[in-house]
Amino acid sequence: MKLFQVRGGVKLSYRKELSSENPIVLMPTPKQVCIPLQQHVGSPAEPTVQVGQWVGKGQLIGRAGRGISANVHASTSGKVIAVEDRTAPHPSGLTQLSVVIESDGEDRWAELAQPITADFPLPATPKELSDRVAAAGIVGLGGAAFPSAVKLDMRYKHSIDTLVINGAECEPYITCDDRLMREAANEVVDGVRIMAYALAVEQVIIAIEGNKPKALKAMREAAKADNSIRVATVPTRFPMGSAQHLLLAVTGRETPADKRTAEVGAVVHNVATARAVSRAIRRGEPLISRVVTVSGHGVREPANVEVPLGTSVEDLLSYCGGLRPVPTLLIGGGPMMGTPLPSVHAPVVKGTCGVLALTAAEINEGPESPCIRCGKCVSACPAGLVPVEMAQLIKRGDLQGAKAIGSQDCIACGSCSFICPSHIPLAHYFSFANGKLNALDRDARRQDRIRSLVQARNERTAREAEAKKAAAAARKAAKAAAAASQANAADTPVSQLEEST
Ligand code: SF4
Ligand code: SF4
Repeated sequence: MKLFQVRGGVKLSYRKELSSENPIVLMPTPKQVCIPLQQHVGSPAEPTVQVGQWVGKGQLIGRAGRGISANVHASTSGKVIAVEDRTAPHPSGLTQLSVVIESDGEDRWAELAQPITADFPLPATPKELSDRVAAAGIVGLGGAAFPSAVKLDMRYKHSIDTLVINGAECEPYITCDDRLMREAANEVVDGVRIMAYALAVEQVIIAIEGNKPKALKAMREAAKADNSIRVATVPTRFPMGSAQHLLLAVTGRETPADKRTAEVGAVVHNVATARAVSRAIRRGEPLISRVVTVSGHGVREPANVEVPLGTSVEDLLSYCGGLRPVPTLLIGGGPMMGTPLPSVHAPVVKGTCGVLALTAAEINEGPESPCIRCGKCVSACPAGLVPVEMAQLIKRGDLQGAKAIGSQDCIACGSCSFICPSHIPLAHYFSFANGKLNALDRDARRQDRIRSLVQARNERTAREAEAKKAAAAARKAAKAAAAASQANAADTPVSQLEEST
């Protein structure tokens, strides 16, 4: 299959061998799960359960909020012991409203949606399928956590002809998608076909990096009966797993920085999302677990584990033999785009593809030294930016200047920081600056809103005052007219009054 040139990116030391030959193991449900009501892009889900209530496995515990949002379900059966703010898996250490369930050890399922077991064409409309995906709380499992049903419904807004399935898995250490494609290829391909049917697309491309030959073989075998599906081998180069870059590599379509891939006719879903879709439609199961790679030289037994959502990182690490005495950094996700975990009490959520315990040798963060103007960050940037210039503007406090040369087009891939020989944490500067710029934008929008509300109120007050004035003038005129007519009547002789009656 013809591939297209993708700019930038870096060649990494992949370190996948730590876990790539370890089959997926099913982690037993821990004694307690803590399930945040915001595990997705958009507004948080609203709790539907109360403290003291028994819930079944798969029961809805959070209903999708307004706008873009996603349902949240219980990952085990048991008693709700708290609905309160708990540690979120975010470096800020901020808390999120969460439902805490004490497992009854029975894993008893709640009543599930009716499975659709028929072969293609499915006895359901595309809208019914995307509604089921929404009801199952499925979000992008590659890490983005964007509600999947919203993407399936893009066909009602844009003209979509292509579905790209992301099996690139370009982050070092992470092997959960590789294992899923090798061990559950039929389920993944079934989910792919369901999504293709829901989107009514003409072509489906499953894109897998060349460093996963066994996954490529398994997926080609599973997809061979459907000739609308092609399995493409894409170059092993970070960040090939970014939706925009993958789409460019397999179709030649460039997605403008401020647009979604749907606006150029394609939807990109991850392989784990495809399996979740198959389970939702074929078994009626909502999204209550995911495969997580636990790796790094700081963990005793690296593994790929199917983990009930809401399991604490501490329980997951102890299931993997616990930590060695050396780790220095715990990361949720991959080392390039993941984020440091604030505590081992943070839970595994829908977007957690990995939990890494890295040692100082693996982090390789030398002391920062001055820029030597080598330009390596510029060649590495897949978004075509000039990281060195942006960082200098940000250091000087010129956020608007950084914005003007594209800082908000940064996809936070970390390639520039990785390649920089001076160990300048360039990507940190951009995430800091973009966070500030977003806050400033929000503030400006809020000020605009306040201004327009005040203006509307002033105009309304002026209109009301005008109306009051007009009414008072009318009353005064009516009173004067009445007084004049009374005076006229008093002056009229009685004989005339009698004549006129
Ligand atoms: S982190 Fe941003 S600026 Fe740096 S290489 Fe990636 S996209 Fe470019
Ligand atoms: S890679 Fe580092 S040293 Fe080289 S130009 Fe970019 S910021 Fe400067």
